[in-house]
Amino acid sequence: MPAKKTTKKAAAPAAPKGPGLGKKFCPECSALIGARTTTCPQCGHEFMTKSKKKNDSGQPAGEINETAFIKVMAGRGFDFQRLRNELTGEIVKDVKDPKIEKLGLRFGSVPKNADAIYVTQTTPQIQVSMSLDKFLEVAGIKP
Ligand SMILES: [Zn+2]
Repeated sequence: MPAKKTTKKAAAPAAPKGPGLGKKFCPECSALIGARTTTCPQCGHEFMTKSKKKNDSGQPAGEINETAFIKVMAGRGFDFQRLRNELTGEIVKDVKDPKIEKLGLRFGSVPKNADAIYVTQTTPQIQVSMSLDKFLEVAGIKP
């Protein structure tokens, strides 16, 4: 019995290569949306505008510095104190909440073999990435 072949091509209009003028595809859900749309109506994906790609400190997108993280966590009620000598720029007092300190957080992009907990910024959220082993350890889950 010959294999059924469905080589019959529908007379579809030639598919355009790109999304077309004034349109773009959402990288999350592939929805075709207006080029100027900043938030995907399908999935809520946020497009970064050119002015948002770099923050004030000139860090690449996806990076977060520890100072920014500490500010956020201190705002949430965690015990963080950092005092800097105005003249030398030296940190003279650096108190980290032990609950956060024991996590051994690292800041920046996540390497392929992540062995610690990495904090990165996915505007407007902060994303925490860790290896499965680290997750089980932090979560206190044992097989
Ligand atoms: Zn989308």
